[in-house]
Amino acid sequence: MSSSVRMCIVCRGRFPQKSLLRLQYQNSKLQAFKGFGRSFYVCQNCQNTPKLDDCIIKVCRLDKKHKETIKSALKEIFLYG
Ligand SMILES: [Zn+2]
Repeated sequence: MSSSVRMCIVCRGRFPQKSLLRLQYQNSKLQAFKGFGRSFYVCQNCQNTPKLDDCIIKVCRLDKKHKETIKSALKEIFLYG
């Protein structure tokens, strides 16, 4: 159903919600979506793209100085998420 289709923040492609990784930036931390608050989606292809951290910085309106923090948070999410 179209209601469960969401846009990937990196490639802007539309995909079924269930196939997307849902993340959020909350309390100065990037994490897997916890069930409430603002969130965004990343498709499976884009989970490996080197520009993923840049896209997250843009979407969350963060300063570029957070890039390394975002990168390590992404590693954790992909390992344990
Ligand atoms: Zn994508």
